[in-house]
Amino acid sequence: MTWSYATHYSCDNCTERFELMQPLNTCPSCGGLLEIQYDLDRMKVELQPKLFDSREPSMWRWHEFYPLQDGTNVVSMGEGGTPLLPSVYVGKKLGLSKLYFKNDALMPTGSFKDRGFSLAVSFAKELGLSRGLTYSSGNAGASFAAYASRAGLDATVLVEYLANPIKKAIIGLYGAHTATLHFESMTDISAMLEQAVRDLGLYQFVNFINPTRHEAMKSYAYEISQALGWKAPDLMIHPVGTGGGIWGAWKGFCELKQLEWIDSLPKMVAVQPSATGPIVQAFKQGARHAEKHGDPTQTIAQSIAADAPIQGGRRVLNAIYDSGGFADVVTNEEIIEAVQWLGNEGICAEPASAASLAVLKRAVSNGFVQPDDCVVCVITGSGLKQPSVIQQAIAESQLKLNASFEDLNKLLTELWKETIRLEMIWCSNQAL
Ligand SMILES: *Cc1c(COP(=O)(O)O)cnc(C)c1O
Ligand SMILES: [Zn+2]
Repeated sequence: MTWSYATHYSCDNCTERFELMQPLNTCPSCGGLLEIQYDLDRMKVELQPKLFDSREPSMWRWHEFYPLQDGTNVVSMGEGGTPLLPSVYVGKKLGLSKLYFKNDALMPTGSFKDRGFSLAVSFAKELGLSRGLTYSSGNAGASFAAYASRAGLDATVLVEYLANPIKKAIIGLYGAHTATLHFESMTDISAMLEQAVRDLGLYQFVNFINPTRHEAMKSYAYEISQALGWKAPDLMIHPVGTGGGIWGAWKGFCELKQLEWIDSLPKMVAVQPSATGPIVQAFKQGARHAEKHGDPTQTIAQSIAADAPIQGGRRVLNAIYDSGGFADVVTNEEIIEAVQWLGNEGICAEPASAASLAVLKRAVSNGFVQPDDCVVCVITGSGLKQPSVIQQAIAESQLKLNASFEDLNKLLTELWKETIRLEMIWCSNQAL
């Protein structure tokens, strides 16, 4: 049995190929982004979808689709395999019959970043690396720190000054070195890191600069397609910071289509905050290259506040154009409304993840989404990582109760606006 069908790295720019089992970040020849390639022809002959049904439900179920060569190097905490929840509230509200939430708030460190870091840290372990660096708006750093600790890798996380204190504390808790990172624009960070790769040979875990992280995001495509009975949704909506998540998912769907396990591809929809939105800006101009845009301090969606995507966001824009999808921005008010709506779905989402739902209301009224379209919104992270926004979204109840039966009876009568009888409770229980 072949554990991995990965074959080599190829460069986006100069198309040079590189041997896989070496710690490469960007292209050693031209500095372009590297992509891991697979022997899909052989996969088509040797693999079948039903092989995967009986495996353990983590993202490692799909190990043939990753670059890791040896299963004993897997560093896993049960990431991936999250539920695809059919909507019970928002779907009705917006008139959508097939709306789903892919709930990655359930991940080991509370965000979808765990998919990427489980793979990237496992791969670093396989290569025998002892140190690594990333910068983060919070979730990536937490995920990197946790997986690095389990792998015995010395992790350094540069935490953006905009990250809320709880996120920074969690990164420290998981045992990484941390420093608060000040910058004028994300372009400063990119320039700094690109030079660190060139001059220090430092191995980095930043999306796209690290070629393995977003390979794990392909697991979205596999899990969602499998849950829908080996069908792709019509639309997949993803909040976009660097764009590693949306690009990885798109790559996964394209692989499945090539393997003929699914017969259509979803439209990929990118969501960014109105305060920044460089990818959206480029998309609205029909451009293939995004420029720096906006002010990251003005959005509550910290995890997608990037004002300048890595290497002009070219891969992300290609995914949107090639899939026939679109990109749009959401305001803080729209995000807070989406956080409230998700509460009624039983989901506590961080503002950046609620952005994927926030865009839907406008997309429905603009006719970009049809009532019977199958739509998947990715819930990328837990609201518990940014609790102040939950407090802002929901007014605290002012009701008080002394622990006595009479008072309780009075309170419930007030809340339910009718006198309580035993059979009423029984009936409402039955209704559940
Ligand atoms: C990182 C992050 C994103 C954006 O992901 P990219 O892959 O950088 O585009 C979205 N939501 C949450 C909660 C995140 O932590
Ligand atoms: Zn190159």
